[in-house]
Amino acid sequence: MSEIHLQPLKHLRGMLSKKELSAPELAQHFLARMKTHAHLGAFLATDEAATLFQAAAAQKRIDAGDTAPLLGLPIAHKDIFVTVDWPTTAGSKMLSGYRSPFDSTIVSNLAGEGAVCLGKLNCDEFAMGSSNENSAYGKALNPWDTSRIPGGSSGGSAVAVAAGLAAAATGTDTGGSIRQPAAFCGITGIKPTYGRASRYGMVAFASSLDQAGPMARSAEDCALLLSAMCGPDLDRDSTSLDVPKEDFSIGLNGKLDGLRVGIPKEFFGEGLSADVRAAIDAALKELEKLGAKLVPIQLPRTELSIPVYYIIAPAEASSNLSRFDGVKFGHRAGKYTDLLDMYKKTRMEGFGDEVKRRIMIGTYVLSHGYYDAYYLQAQKIRRMIADDFQNAFKECDVIAGPVAPTVAWKIGEKSDDPVANYLADIFTLPASLAGLPGMSLPVGFGAGNMPVGMQLIGNYFKEAQLLNVAHQYQQATDFHARRPEGF
Ligand code: GLN
Repeated sequence: MSEIHLQPLKHLRGMLSKKELSAPELAQHFLARMKTHAHLGAFLATDEAATLFQAAAAQKRIDAGDTAPLLGLPIAHKDIFVTVDWPTTAGSKMLSGYRSPFDSTIVSNLAGEGAVCLGKLNCDEFAMGSSNENSAYGKALNPWDTSRIPGGSSGGSAVAVAAGLAAAATGTDTGGSIRQPAAFCGITGIKPTYGRASRYGMVAFASSLDQAGPMARSAEDCALLLSAMCGPDLDRDSTSLDVPKEDFSIGLNGKLDGLRVGIPKEFFGEGLSADVRAAIDAALKELEKLGAKLVPIQLPRTELSIPVYYIIAPAEASSNLSRFDGVKFGHRAGKYTDLLDMYKKTRMEGFGDEVKRRIMIGTYVLSHGYYDAYYLQAQKIRRMIADDFQNAFKECDVIAGPVAPTVAWKIGEKSDDPVANYLADIFTLPASLAGLPGMSLPVGFGAGNMPVGMQLIGNYFKEAQLLNVAHQYQQATDFHARRPEGF
């Protein structure tokens, strides 16, 4: 029983089928671990009664012979997906005490498959950040070294999975927020093609970039979750793609013989620290052993992805966050003189520094006189970045490289330096801007014995291929199965 939280989802599901364990017992196991590891700061909201209610309902379905693959498995959601049964804050004071009247599509898709929700997970405020230090509700600690950040913005999700507080979790990725915390905490995560996962009920940061995806211990676990999460939601999300649901577990047996893995030279330049590079190089050798061929490629505008993203994302955020005015949602200032004063005080009190910074940048780049110089230029370069990928995919099937230039840094190390945080996003931003699927899988350890993640980027709708490459790697190695000491 004590090792239950280390088991793959398929194994847990098998135990439930064989009645070696009931869904409520399984939920209790994780609820107990969540309590004893509360100091990690992974969860923002829990409600045992709500969790156990779902577990009991799942057990009924199991007893009735329902074989749905996620039925009865305890997962947790990034606190950016709205939920009826748990409050939703998006890591912001602005939404403290907010409860949604409906579930987001991702939450209801997973609940429909019978997954049991353990609660809501810590994240950077409105998903803006890469260390979880921007959460208004406190830090989340990396279980591999609690003096270090877990990454962000889906930091709580990565901590919960790495520390065995949830069997798997959901996250969102706008510019790397699934891939980077997965890398920093030694777990596996995938961001699908933009438009595959519904954004309905996902608190919006930058709408043309935001995508949901799973964070779990292995590619196999991710495939199970992703299959349930994705699918068209045309009536509720205007950017949802009319692409049929797919079972991503089916393609997990493909051999890698002859697979062309593109190695972008721009991902292996000066900025990449030697320890991360060594782990990635070893992983690439392993892929070669499995039959893959490494092909040098170029993504010449990689560096530009930072200014482009940090114009477009704040521009969209400044518009999206205008809805938080003290009238419709969450926080409202206690004292004010007139309507304008109410707006001002509400937003001054409700938003944290990073969010205010981005609203200001976004408003500036969209303003008359600067729109052409910044926003329009950024959009043009975004298109070129997407074209660069299409050129690269003429020569390779998937692209591999690091997720981040370093391993997880120390808490506080970059918290006063927003630009240092932005620069660390360099390898995840290009795929986000192009709307391509990208994933992160653990491939070794670097400085301070911290996990290193390798990134795989695929062409549009090639999630199954990415998951297969990661799965083949994970069949041949055991980095995904390593756990921080004591967990
Ligand atoms: N670190 C990036 C940012 O701060 C990405 C965040 C995300 O993907 N949500 O915007």
